[in-house]
Amino acid sequence: MKNLTIGVDIGGTNIKLGIINSQGKIISRGNLQTTKYAKSKNVLIKALISELDSLLEKNSLKATDILGIGIGLPGLVDYEKGNVIFLPNVPGWHNVPLKKIIESKIRIKTFLDNDVNLIALGEWKLGAGSNYENLICITLGTGVGGGLILDNKLYRGEGFAAGEIGHIPLNEKGKKCNCGGTACLEATIGRNALMQKAAILFKKRNIDLKEVYDLAEKGNARAIDFWRQTANHLGNGLVGIVNVLNPQLIVIGGGVSGSYKFLKPAFLKVLKERTMTVQSRMIKIAQAKLGDDAGIIGANVLVRESVS
Ligand SMILES: [Zn+2]
Repeated sequence: MKNLTIGVDIGGTNIKLGIINSQGKIISRGNLQTTKYAKSKNVLIKALISELDSLLEKNSLKATDILGIGIGLPGLVDYEKGNVIFLPNVPGWHNVPLKKIIESKIRIKTFLDNDVNLIALGEWKLGAGSNYENLICITLGTGVGGGLILDNKLYRGEGFAAGEIGHIPLNEKGKKCNCGGTACLEATIGRNALMQKAAILFKKRNIDLKEVYDLAEKGNARAIDFWRQTANHLGNGLVGIVNVLNPQLIVIGGGVSGSYKFLKPAFLKVLKERTMTVQSRMIKIAQAKLGDDAGIIGANVLVRESVS
């Protein structure tokens, strides 16, 4: 046993793999294009298994050198059974016993979880949230995701669906959300909603959020205000959850968090002003540190937490 893990991050476009040592460093990488195999889940699983095999071979490792394989998936996952319950954006994934399938082909213990849960685990143990016992991790991107670390443990909820911060309603009435809900945070500050808003504001179709960031960098008042309003929505959406959970830290990751610098002041201000006294005194915010590797590093943490 060499105290190594393999982290796998299954995303909509790419599957990233990494061998990770006991210090949380990625020592070797693998990659697959999800879209190439997305037609059938069996084809995708087969490709994943062969990529895992070749990663072991490339590094002259045996199954017994690996503590476990951790896999993050973009959807609902039964962590205890190791089943993928449902992936909303990858066709054909309903009740797939992925843990059993992988373990029968490669003799390494395998653990599955939701991808944002893994980002929360990664940031908590090896990123912006190390030394904290209670934190909320938010990912801002096409979706708005959340992971909860409560009393030094990932909180999954009764049906493994906890942490859906993007589906906190901001109002009683408003835009319909993909989840079926109304006026969800994600329907207001998800990437698509922000791009639509920016397109109108800057009178430019398909304006990229990076451009709005660059404009803010140059001091453009409208762009600075765009990020301030986004941060206000985010802050207002989280006041209730901060009051309920009394976390020490909120870690913000995901693509849109590249604008953290412009989001931070208004976000923190809303939280400090609107949460209750004790909660307000304790709450801090931080930008995620693990970037694109958060998924595989978190998968490594999942393995180490699960086998210990
Ligand atoms: Zn929703």
